[in-house]
Amino acid sequence: MDVLCMGELLIDFVALESGVAVGDASGFLKAAGGAPANVAVAAARLGHSAGLIGQVGDDPFGHYLAGVLAANGVDVRGLRFSPEARTALAFVSLGPGGERDFIFYRHPSADMLMRPEDVDLSLIDSCSIFHFGSITLIGEPSRSATLAAVRHARAGGKLISYDPNLRMSLWPSAEAAKTGMLLGMQDAEVVKVSQEELTFLSGQSHAGALWRDGMKLIIVTHGADGATLYTPRERFTAPGFPVEAVDTTGAGDSFVAALLSGLLTYGDAFDRHLPEIAHFANATGALTTTRKGAIPALPTRQQVEAFLASRN
Ligand code: ADP
Repeated sequence: MDVLCMGELLIDFVALESGVAVGDASGFLKAAGGAPANVAVAAARLGHSAGLIGQVGDDPFGHYLAGVLAANGVDVRGLRFSPEARTALAFVSLGPGGERDFIFYRHPSADMLMRPEDVDLSLIDSCSIFHFGSITLIGEPSRSATLAAVRHARAGGKLISYDPNLRMSLWPSAEAAKTGMLLGMQDAEVVKVSQEELTFLSGQSHAGALWRDGMKLIIVTHGADGATLYTPRERFTAPGFPVEAVDTTGAGDSFVAALLSGLLTYGDAFDRHLPEIAHFANATGALTTTRKGAIPALPTRQQVEAFLASRN
């Protein structure tokens, strides 16, 4: 398997109208969500074999999510159905000031209860790249499960990719968020952060403070302005592609999948191909913003290539 992701898989209920607080929305549209799941589907659309390790509830929403992944060609052998807790839900609206307003139902949710012994290590043995996020690092036992999986992947020589997502309201404090998100950096070789996450984690606007021994690539994304790629020896900034963005949900996740696709293509020589890798990832991210939702908006390789050809 090319890309194995681990982490949360949840239902996003997206408010039918914008400009209202989440509690005032008249109704919600059901959408599959969860950053690691988006990365797995995005990698599959780009033509790679991909899988997800995670846990949902043994309930209709959990089975719906498993069906969405399977329909998109994602290997779900590592997905477990917990009888102890429900599938995580998030209700989301674009609030009156344009900011995203969230309410999470995870008290606890099935993803939070995944234990180290629930992780199928043989799946990890079969992958080239292991990718994870920070939501399952928030509490126990999912934190231990995630770290055990990461260490197993590292010991097996897999490329370790990490995308910490800042969801302050899910952590007990800002300090806990920073410490917990940095925990994932210890074994990561490829790290993707947004400008906002970089500032939160390091207090700086460049990636220098995030470097740890063994890291190979840090990517800082700048929304419509593209991304900067840092290797231990150089830095390369690639501008974004101007598009009519209607919804940026999933742009960061598809960017990650496209970046990992580049790493699979170029292998150890990836640092000689930073412009091509960044160009392809920016195009994939940009295309994702042109359609509503995350999973429905993730482009195929043919769509990205056609887009790139039209922009040359
Ligand atoms: P995240 O979704 O993780 O916060 P960003 O918003 O920085 O990350 O977006 C990730 C990538 O998606 C960017 O580096 C860029 O390539 C692309 N992207 C995001 N927003 C836009 C936009 N409005 N126009 C064009 N490309 C975009």
